[in-house]
Parts: sequence; C-alpha cells; structure tokens
Amino acid sequence: MRPIDLASRSGVALRRAFQAQQLRRVTGSRQYSNVTSLPPTYEKLHNKYSEVRRVLGAQRLTLAEKILYSHLDNVEESLLNNTNNGRDIRGKANLKLKPDRVNMQDASAQMALLQFMSCNLPQTAIPASIHCDHLIVGSKGADDDLQAGIQTNHEVFDFLESAAKKYGLDFWAPGAGIIHQTVLENYAIPGLMMLGTDSHSPNAGGMSTITIGVGGADAVEALVGAPWELKAPKVLGVSLTGKLSNWASPKDLILHLAGLLTVRGGTGYIVEYSGPGVETLSCTGMATICNMGAEIGATTSIFPYTEASARYLQSTRREQAAKNAATFQNFPGAGASEDAYFKFKADEGAQYDELIEIDLSKLEPHINGPHTPDLSTPLSQFKATVQEQKWPEKLSAGLIGSCTNSSYEDMTRVESIVRAAEEAGLKPKADFYVTPGSEQIRATLERDGTLQSFEKAGGIVLSNACGPCIGQWKRQDGVEKGTVNAILTSYNRNFRGRNDGNLDTMNFLASPEIVTAMAYAGSTTFNPVTDSLTTPDGKEFKFPAPHGLEGPKTPFDIGKDVFKVASQLPNPNEQIAIAPTSERLALLEPFEPFPESDLSGLKVLVKVSGKCTTDTISAAGPWLKYKGHLPNISANTLNTAVNAETNEVNVAYDLDGSKHTIPELAKLWKERNQPWLVVAEHNYGEGSAREHAALQPRYLGARIIVCKSFARIHETNLKKQGVVPLTFVNEQDYDKVAAGDEVATVGLYEMLQNGGQGEVQLKVTKKGTGEELLIPVKHQVSKDQAGFILAGSALNLLSKGASL
Ligand code: SF4
Repeated sequence: MRPIDLASRSGVALRRAFQAQQLRRVTGSRQYSNVTSLPPTYEKLHNKYSEVRRVLGAQRLTLAEKILYSHLDNVEESLLNNTNNGRDIRGKANLKLKPDRVNMQDASAQMALLQFMSCNLPQTAIPASIHCDHLIVGSKGADDDLQAGIQTNHEVFDFLESAAKKYGLDFWAPGAGIIHQTVLENYAIPGLMMLGTDSHSPNAGGMSTITIGVGGADAVEALVGAPWELKAPKVLGVSLTGKLSNWASPKDLILHLAGLLTVRGGTGYIVEYSGPGVETLSCTGMATICNMGAEIGATTSIFPYTEASARYLQSTRREQAAKNAATFQNFPGAGASEDAYFKFKADEGAQYDELIEIDLSKLEPHINGPHTPDLSTPLSQFKATVQEQKWPEKLSAGLIGSCTNSSYEDMTRVESIVRAAEEAGLKPKADFYVTPGSEQIRATLERDGTLQSFEKAGGIVLSNACGPCIGQWKRQDGVEKGTVNAILTSYNRNFRGRNDGNLDTMNFLASPEIVTAMAYAGSTTFNPVTDSLTTPDGKEFKFPAPHGLEGPKTPFDIGKDVFKVASQLPNPNEQIAIAPTSERLALLEPFEPFPESDLSGLKVLVKVSGKCTTDTISAAGPWLKYKGHLPNISANTLNTAVNAETNEVNVAYDLDGSKHTIPELAKLWKERNQPWLVVAEHNYGEGSAREHAALQPRYLGARIIVCKSFARIHETNLKKQGVVPLTFVNEQDYDKVAAGDEVATVGLYEMLQNGGQGEVQLKVTKKGTGEELLIPVKHQVSKDQAGFILAGSALNLLSKGASL
C-alpha cells in the first residue's frame, strides 16, 4: 500500500516534481544534478552530506549530526558562524534546516492549517500529511466510538479534508491510525528529516530519521519552504550492551532512562543510541524508546539503521526502501576515506557530550508514576513503594497500545500471557482496554488471531486513535471525578488528569506485558515475575515470561479500504470548509506588532507554583474540540495552574482583590487593554508541543513569561507567537515578584532590534508599597526570533514574505 520512497508513490511523483519546482521558486534553493543513480531523497541527502564533509573535514560525527547537518539550507553559513570554525557547533550554531516533510495530527493541524491559509500560497512546499486521531473518544469499543467521534467532529474533519484537497496533502481519515504509528509504517525511511506537530513525533527515530516535535507555527515555516531554525543540539549518547530477557522490554529501557535523567535531563539534547545492544532490538522497540524520549525533554532521539529496521521496511511492504537504503550506504562520495560513504550510524570515534551505558541483560521492568513519567520504580520494589506511599492497591484499569506500544511484537508478547491465563481459566480483574496504533496493525492482529485472544479475555478494543491517552476516555466503570484510583497504561505520558480528566486518578506507565498481567491481578502490588494468582479451581498460576514475534510472518494486512490514505494533487478550486457561525473553527486575526519601545505597564496576572506543563496551560480532553477556535479554547488558559500565593488551583485576583478564575481574569484584562505576564518556576511548558499553550496567553494579552526555566519547544512556541520568554538570572528573584505587581522591561526593545544581542532586566514596581526592584533576566532569542517578536508573530513575518 504505502510507498517507500516519497517520490516513487503512485500518483504522487507528478506532485513532487511540481512541488520541487515550486520549492525552487519559493526558496531559490540550489539544485544538484551530478548524482543520478540514487533515488531523489537520497540524491539530495548525498549532495548535502558531501558539502558537510567538505566544510567539516575529518571531524567525527554522530548519526544525528550527519542527518541533521545534511538538511541545512546553507551548510557553510550554519556550521561556520559562531562555532570556532566548525569545531564547536553543538549548543552554539543556529541551524537553518530544510526538513523533507511535515506530519500533523488533527488537533494541532487545525491551527497549523489556519496559519498556513494566512500565507495565501496555492500549495505546500514540501509533502505533508494530516492524521485524524486525537478527537475520537474511547468508551465502548471501536465501532461505536468511531461513529460517535465522526458525528461530533465532522466539522473539523471536513475542514481538514478540504484543506488537504486544496493544498495537496495526504489525508488519513478518522480510524486510520495514530500519527506516529502511521508515519513509522508509511513515511519513515532512514536519513529523512521530518517535523511533526506533536511532541511524540521522534517515534520515527526508531527508523533512523531525525523527527522533531514542533508547534503549528514551526510547521508553517517548513510548509511555506522557509528554513526552520534550531539551536544545534548537544548529543547524549546511550550505549547499549547485552540483550533484553524475560519480562524486560524496550519500554523498560526508556522508563529506566526517564528515572535517571528526569523530565528535564534531555533538554537541549538529541539522544543517540549505539552499541551492540542496538542490534538486538526490533525496529518498533526502538521507535517506542524514541517516542518516550519526549518525556525527558529531548529534542529528538535516534537509533542506527539495523537489520531489524530493514526487516520492518520489508514487512510493511517497502522492500524498495530497504534496497534504496542499502544502495545509498554503499554509494561512494567524493574522496577516498570511509567518510565519503553515508552510513546510518555514528562515525567511529564520534564524541558525545554525555554518555550513559546500559546493559540490557540487567534491565528489569519498571513502573513510572503517578503523575510524572520520571518517577521510576523497578518492578521488584513497586509493591513496597505502593504500600509506603499509600497509593491505591486496587487497580481499576489496564490500558495497552497507543502510538507508543501497539507493535506486533508488543501485542503478540501480551497475547502469550493472555493465552496462558485463559488456559488457566483466568480473566482480567481490572478493566482491560486495547488501542491499536493503526488500521494496518489492527487488521494484521485480527488476521493473526491476536485481537480475538484479547476480546475472549474480556478486553475492549478501542478505535485506532488516541482516545484515553489524551483525556478522551469516557470511563464505563463508574469512577467519578474526585475518586482516588489507580490505572496502569502502556502509554507515554501521565500528567495529572491526562487520561480521564480526573486529577485523582493515579496513572502509572509500564510495558504492555506488565500492564496486562497486573490487570489480571487487579492489583498494583502484584509482581508477575515472582507472584502467583489463584485459578478458579484453586490452583496456583504463575505467568510465563512473555514471548512474541518481532513482526508478522507474512507482510502486514493493509486493512479496510475506508481507512486508506487519500493522496491528491492540489486543487485550487477546493473551498475550505469553515462555517462563519462555527464554534469549532475560526479564522485567525493577526497579532499586533511589538511597540517601538520597551514594554511598560504590564501586570503580573498570576504567579504559578510547581509543575506548569502545556496541559496546565491549555488542557486537552474536552477542550480538544476547540483547537481550531482560538477565542473559545482560550477559556481554559492555565485552568489547572496552582496560584503560588494562595495555593488555590485556577484562581487569580484582580487589582481590586476580586476573585476570578485565571482565564476569566485574563479575559477581563484583555478587554481593559491591560497587558500582562506570568511568573513561574522550572521547566515551564514541559510536555506536549501544544502551541495553543503559547497562542492562548498571547491572544489574551500576555507579553512576557518569566520563570526559572523553560521546556524547549514551548519556549520556541512563545517566541513564534510574539510572547517574550525570560528566565531569572537568580532563581531566588522568583520570590520577589507577586501577582498584581507592575512590570516594565529595560533593554528588551534594544535586544530585539539588535537581533537577540543584549541584556534585559525587569523593573518591578511592587503592588501596594510602590517599591521598585531591578531584576536581571536571561533570554535565548536568536536573530530570526527577534524578528518574529518585533513583527508580532512568526506568521506576521512569514505571510509578508509569502505575499512578496
Ligand atoms: Fe495520541 Fe497519546 Fe500518541 Fe499523543 S501520545 S499521539 S495523544 S496516542
């Protein structure tokens, strides 16, 4: 079904040729013609890579660097500026990159496309796809849920489909699958660079791609053919030895790593895996590990291309892609050294900024949570921890699958223990849900009898969509909001309220095998490695260690026709479907530009304490339906943030002392033309790539966020929307600023005019006393980002460029 090489797809080659022509027109990019025996994707990569080698000489490069630098718009300019002549690139160079494609999920695609529409271009400069996955509520089972989801969201799906037709994008209808699984199965080939409007896009790093999660504004830059900027990441190496055994799975590797590194440990890094242990992992296992690299804040994660990667390409009917990858790796470049060949692995002797060594043979299963993915407990200590922490011992539900863990290997390993339990006459005591990641995996598991095993055990198979992973879970077990209870999932993220909107649900992450075995016990203190269950006839039953198949014996089944991708040439006559009365979709009004002076008269709307994730700033769940309607979704802004001064959730006080919810007060201040700022603690905006977390505050009147530290994607998103992200030079200054204080900037306008060069301070006038403080702050504003902020937003600048 789906293609191997981007340019070789039926009906798509013409479009690509047209797009390439368009790309040249839009960007004036240089063309190469000296290599003719490689497929176009690799011809381009080969030529850029030759430039990288010319510029950097014999410098040893990691795999991530090879791919990333071979996607630079101007290799010399990016690698030699501010880098000690190319010797000090990481953390210093501003990389201006030209990604190969963009993948968008339905919730974030709405805003990305609304922004793209403002640029008035007839089509996108590079291939892109839309995946309808986030808006389907998981409840009773696939068929009912999908039908209900389509009915509720038809307006949004119609809009996305019409935009896909107009601009020539691939459209994956509701039920076709979750973005990352679909991308891995269809678009990921080694050496590509992709952007995805979702924080778990690095999943495709399991197929040796550089895939980075971004906001819609970044996606629009790539879609219009402008270079996309990234501070050159550092590279954190993870060297693997040994082989996983018994109950340990790839998921446990990343759960363990999250515990080691914490949710901030990967910030500013690409995580690159190497070592002999890599060869023992399946391609989908590597994807799981890359997927959850988002939980440690990594820019992205990547694995070398292995025999397992080639097998995965073959089983997903992309034999030609496997052949192309082999041809490319043996294709000689200029020069006689080994460096002339592009190998999908790090150069011998490549240096990592940090190196972690993990022996897979010694890895035991882990369970992470609740409420944060880095609270990691080895399974052998979990019972004691549950009892010590007084976490619930009853397990109310076990949920497996999602974009993270629904591979053939995962599911057949689970099937092996489900069958053993079935033979012993056991059924899961907790509710048991299965989410296939795509129609292809669902149909294959059905063909091979695996889904039937789950259903026989009482498992509920949900639609091929995100569902409970993103708060789209209508629980059927009567657990009401406010009820403390425990669930286990094989998903990737577990912030409070993430799955069912209940802040008191304790959500733990584990491998699908561990989730399933514990669902049979209905208990959080059960250890399937050591403990036994009692069968209905009173016998002791101990689960066998799980075993499964890396992939199906015959290639994957493509599934139902209705879920196949719609690929199309752009149709300028297609009308974009947005009703003027819509409550779900609204055209965007441009934000006003930065004033021609420093900012003054800002007030602190709220001082937030503790974790402030993008879920906190713009909650998902029921709010997902307003993703395409900025005024409507803004009513959730910071609605789970904790007020540092009163410890209340979603409470802010107006200057006269009156009490409001945070979004209500923000709206009041917007109406009064009172610009504002938020003060916060560490890792502000961690979690998903959700650009609404930047757009909404901007829409409501935020000009600055000042905090102790930022999560990378969110910090970038803020700048793209014209909000200035600043961090305290002295963290203790957080204590000196309070809600209602007046703030003016000193040096900010000059810094922006100087392309991000210069120091900034905040002049704070205390509410009540009038005392004045000067607080030094730091920024990470690049030249381009200074331009975005001055223009009011990146889109203001891009749409100007596009209309020239
Ligand atoms: Fe969907 Fe969850 Fe995967 Fe995000 S992490 S794409 S919400 S399944």
